[in-house]
Amino acid sequence: MLQKPSAELSVELHREFLKGIGDNVLPVTSCCDSCCLFCSNNANPAGILLQYPGHLPMAYIMEHMEFLSADQPVVIGESATRICEGEPLCHPEFMDILTGLRQRFPKTSIRLTTSGSLIDERWLKFFASIGNLELTVSVNSLWHRLEICGNNFKMNPRRMVASLLSGSDELCVSFVYLQEFQESLLSDIVELMSDGVTRFRIFKPGFTRLSRRPFNWPDSDFTGTLESLGRNVSILLEPPEIHDIVPQVRAVLPGSPSAACGICRGDVIISVSGTPALSRYNAHHLIRKARNPVVVIRRNGDSVAAELIKSPDSSSGLVFDYDISDSDLNLCRAILHRGDRIATAPLPGRFLKKVFPVHSSQVCIVDNLFFGGNIQVAGLLVLNDLFGQLKEKGRYFLPQVMFDTSGRDLQGLLAPGWDRTIGQYYLDV
Ligand code: SF4
Repeated sequence: MLQKPSAELSVELHREFLKGIGDNVLPVTSCCDSCCLFCSNNANPAGILLQYPGHLPMAYIMEHMEFLSADQPVVIGESATRICEGEPLCHPEFMDILTGLRQRFPKTSIRLTTSGSLIDERWLKFFASIGNLELTVSVNSLWHRLEICGNNFKMNPRRMVASLLSGSDELCVSFVYLQEFQESLLSDIVELMSDGVTRFRIFKPGFTRLSRRPFNWPDSDFTGTLESLGRNVSILLEPPEIHDIVPQVRAVLPGSPSAACGICRGDVIISVSGTPALSRYNAHHLIRKARNPVVVIRRNGDSVAAELIKSPDSSSGLVFDYDISDSDLNLCRAILHRGDRIATAPLPGRFLKKVFPVHSSQVCIVDNLFFGGNIQVAGLLVLNDLFGQLKEKGRYFLPQVMFDTSGRDLQGLLAPGWDRTIGQYYLDV
């Protein structure tokens, strides 16, 4: 049985923590040693229901750890719940927490995001000893870290990344795009590529109406340079502006099973061991799960079959942009086919309109007015955004990510309706 929250932990915090555990997310701390120019924590509108618990008690974390699933990666350091996550290495007992996690789940992958600012020789040795570690290091800049994040690395960042590369199973280096630092970002990528890094993620920042930052997106020169740099490595610009669910390969990692059998960037996956690939997500999932899958690809109008020699649940080396999960795709299809509407934020809305062109008029785009700025995502919509913007009468199904486990949005308003048959919140206008 799960323990009730201790006196110090509120019921809301406990509930969010359990939601995280249910999704294999392990929050550890909301404390952070950085002060990033793009951090949203100081530019959120007042009154939103987010939790900043500081360091969660180690005993509490250890006690609930056993309810994580051994069958999927345990995620640490990503704000995937309403508990705001800071820098995990700030937690004074984080080594003990990771050690306990590894003892409890000897084979499960641990997916850890860290800024890298606190990593020193002691951490490098520790990470190398943990095993099955998928690390994302949000370096943000090799040589302008102080200006962008308000702190510096404890050690030479190139040496740190090179050591992590040899001591982890998968290493990804991430940056948040800021226009004034785009030249140094590109040169950082070149330097890190020469050190052997093959996975990069570049996040477009989300600034609310309260932020004082300009909302500049990468221009075509920048994205063109990224395209040419990304011929032999994976460089994902996120969130991607994609308009279809064609399972086209974004990149093939060097030395991987996919590279060995000749799959190239731009190839389209048709089927995986006889099962048609329905989307990028679906293709990735089918290939990841399979042992030695036979993949049929389309290239220049021809179909070619290739066998990827790999074990189940291991990386194929194929990189795709994220599009939509199988369950969300089926859910949207079911809602639209029965004549109802979907209300969602601009970014997913534009995508759904392209994916379901026949039902385009049933997809209603709602601006993120409450957060404002350049926010365009469903997870930051609130019911107050919808009330003024949905004009036509009908039933509108709402993104699940708008609501917490008790059906409240970020302002605490309860979702008006719940459809039991498809398990989704809705609003009748
Ligand atoms: S590392 Fe994350 S939480 Fe910390 S200041 Fe930067 S953006 Fe904010």
